[in-house]
Amino acid sequence: MSDPAELRKVLVFYTGGTIGMKRNDHGVLVPASDVFVKKIRSCPELHDPELAEAYCVREHELITKIPSCPGPITYQVREYHPLLDSSNVSPREWVIIAKNIQENYNEFDGFVVLNGTDTLAYTSSILSFMFKNLAKPVVITGAQISIFEDPSDAKMNILSSLTFAGCSDIPEVCVYFGSKLMRGNRVRKVHTSQLDAFESLNYPVLAETGMHSRIHRGNTLQKSERGPLIIHNKLCEAVGVLFIFPTLTRTQLLSFLEPTLEGVVLVTYGSGNIPSHRQDLLDVLRNAVGRGIVVVNVTQCARGPVSVSYETGRCLQEIGVVSGHDITIEAAYAKLVVVCGMVRTSEERTELMKQVLRGEMTLL
Ligand code: ASP
Repeated sequence: MSDPAELRKVLVFYTGGTIGMKRNDHGVLVPASDVFVKKIRSCPELHDPELAEAYCVREHELITKIPSCPGPITYQVREYHPLLDSSNVSPREWVIIAKNIQENYNEFDGFVVLNGTDTLAYTSSILSFMFKNLAKPVVITGAQISIFEDPSDAKMNILSSLTFAGCSDIPEVCVYFGSKLMRGNRVRKVHTSQLDAFESLNYPVLAETGMHSRIHRGNTLQKSERGPLIIHNKLCEAVGVLFIFPTLTRTQLLSFLEPTLEGVVLVTYGSGNIPSHRQDLLDVLRNAVGRGIVVVNVTQCARGPVSVSYETGRCLQEIGVVSGHDITIEAAYAKLVVVCGMVRTSEERTELMKQVLRGEMTLL
């Protein structure tokens, strides 16, 4: 028997998404229960029966050998019920994923979460803020083409995610997609159908796979020695995202900033600008900040930070809107959801929104 001490152990949570979908009677893709693990078991790249025998792995476990890892990776797949198209994911699922990782934290070297791609950037951002003192890799991935179709990007995305979860020791929530490992709270889905569907907009990738695979250790977070894994699982749902557009009216803005709202991502033009001549809009925003709503300024541009370069941006700073620097819309939203659940006063919330909590933004 081969030495089990050299095995790396990964736990995979399969929440749904295209990666394991099949077509229904209408010819459209829906999640298919209880068939995914069987399919994985039949893929030689993802499971090696001879290795399974050599290492005496248990019946529910899978095993594969990856050239860049010192030992084989053994893994289990826990399928969620019901499986979801990620457009149906809600805070309930984020809490379940975080708790499941925490419950199994000590027994595994790393974790993979298989998720639909549509809201994957929200899930990866939320999880990054929910975990405190994370010291192991949590790699989130999905696929543009189901594993039941051929060719598909599913196998490669699963295999590479297993590699990073099992062997990289990168202590953060990451996204692996289309040959890149990226920080979870820096990604956006940028293409509806291409295999290279995600980009890390304002931060370099953490690793690449392919002809010249390498981990860029200088880009990853450092291991925290500060204590046991903690999850912030009280999430605030009274958070919204408001896109500024040229014909926005006072009434529309007022109805959006309704009294129960606690946090808003204000998605502004260019380097963080809004129409500064619109005193009616500024008054409504000033009033909202005064009522304790935390408003964060994030750009509509795909890349680059917000900054106070124009009068049209300075007017926001003046009324107490917080700069989101180069944070993505998804990460700003996720940060507000976690921060507003974590602390109560608008002063505490504002303070936390200004700080870099998990490498989500760059302060210049
Ligand atoms: N609609 C699918 C989902 O997000 C898309 C995908 O997984 O790629 O679950």
